[in-house]
Amino acid sequence: MNNQTGNNNHYDLIVIGAGSGGVRAARIAANYGAKVAIVESVRVGGTCVLRGCVPKKLLVYGSHFAKDIEDSEGFGWQISSFIHDWSKLISNKNKELDRLNKIYLNLLSKVNIINGFAEIISNNEIEVNGEVLSTNSILIAVGGKPFMPDIIGKELCIDSDAALDLKKFPTSIVINGGGYIALEFAGIFASFGSNVTLVYRGKNILRGFDSDISKLITEELKNSKIKLLTETEISSVAKTSDGLLTKLSSGEEVITKEVMYATGRVPATNDLGLKNVGIKIGSIGEIIVDDNNETNIKNIFAIGDVTNRINLTPVAIAEGQIFADNRFGATNKKCDYSNVASAVFTQPAIGVVGLSEVEAEKLYADNGGISIFKTSFKPMKQTLGGRNTKIFIKMIVTNKDNKVVGIHGIGDDMPEIIQICAVAIKAGATKDDFDNTMGIHPTAAEELVTLK
Ligand code: NDP
Repeated sequence: MNNQTGNNNHYDLIVIGAGSGGVRAARIAANYGAKVAIVESVRVGGTCVLRGCVPKKLLVYGSHFAKDIEDSEGFGWQISSFIHDWSKLISNKNKELDRLNKIYLNLLSKVNIINGFAEIISNNEIEVNGEVLSTNSILIAVGGKPFMPDIIGKELCIDSDAALDLKKFPTSIVINGGGYIALEFAGIFASFGSNVTLVYRGKNILRGFDSDISKLITEELKNSKIKLLTETEISSVAKTSDGLLTKLSSGEEVITKEVMYATGRVPATNDLGLKNVGIKIGSIGEIIVDDNNETNIKNIFAIGDVTNRINLTPVAIAEGQIFADNRFGATNKKCDYSNVASAVFTQPAIGVVGLSEVEAEKLYADNGGISIFKTSFKPMKQTLGGRNTKIFIKMIVTNKDNKVVGIHGIGDDMPEIIQICAVAIKAGATKDDFDNTMGIHPTAAEELVTLK
């Protein structure tokens, strides 16, 4: 599929969007010898590197020192004063993002990087910076963007992009939402000492997660002095001399320095020219693709968050790799979406893989049912540290063949632990396999092999 035309403006592949998925696809396609261009309107790196996972995790690390310092007293440390410099953290975080941006640029050494906004004008043409480029295939990898519902005072509120770049630390903040981003930022700001009010429209936060996780993380939020208001919505936000006044559906009013919306993300397809070629989209604007990542228009493909399948960086990367291998390496791979582990970087963190109890009960109702094994205990560090926090682990096992079909946990190390649990589950591990494995003592992870 090499470009044989000799036309400088003709490519084998044009990728739109240089995030994790797009960069992987472009790099692998170029390694196969394809002539590739990647068009990016901001800078190379995408949501994960520039506006999501990476800067968020750096802020999680930064904020966690407050808890570590609190813990250290019980271990004999006397820390008379500790002061945090928010602007230094944001500046160092930005330097790290610049470094990662350069690494991503290096990864694209065989790809023509075009800075601009692409519009698809036909199934083999795009327009960028006033120039028309032709191509044998187009890959849309533009990702998503924060969604904010229309409320009075919306323009006064920040989203996660802005929250990662605040010039001044907010000593108080209202965060709307009960999902990944709301909970992670609630933890970050609370650990740095902000008064956090978390507003959630539903009854139980982290809808779709195992109910024990939702229940126990709610307790942990309270331990972190986060004020959680469930079954509550924001009616309006207004500016006052004391800060932002948030009026809630309950009638309550809160004044804070910032109001953040973390009410989901939607595919970033505005002005992309989808209508020019008739690309099919779903209810929130996601691009519909088949299991070969191809849209209803031949030679136009899409991967990552813009397709709203599983919106996680490693999934987008896998989709990009598979797309490039199939298209330019003549393989016929399909992405395996089963047992994708994920973590929520709350404090303590959450790690999950496989089915929740409710999902497993339903799936195995007519096939022997399931058994639940769970444990909850005080982390060893907190025997001296003294903070009121717990580790929780839950394993879901089929009765018929003893297979582990779900593991859910809360604890500082849970994201690291759950990654390896995912390997075991994908390999078909049984509860006996876990039980027959020696533990490492003393760790939290050893509880996984001693669950009774
Ligand atoms: P989520 O879908 O996780 O959560 C959105 C939250 O906003 C839900 O609690 C939802 O409520 C609520 N909500 C939605 N619409 C409204 C509305 N109109 N008014 C009030 N509340 C509303 O989205 P996030 O923005 O937190 O994250 C987006 C995605 O990014 C995640 O799904 C995940 O795929 C990815 N991500 C992954 C991370 C990780 O891997 N650690 C970290 C951050 C993001 P309800 O429950 O009622 O629908």
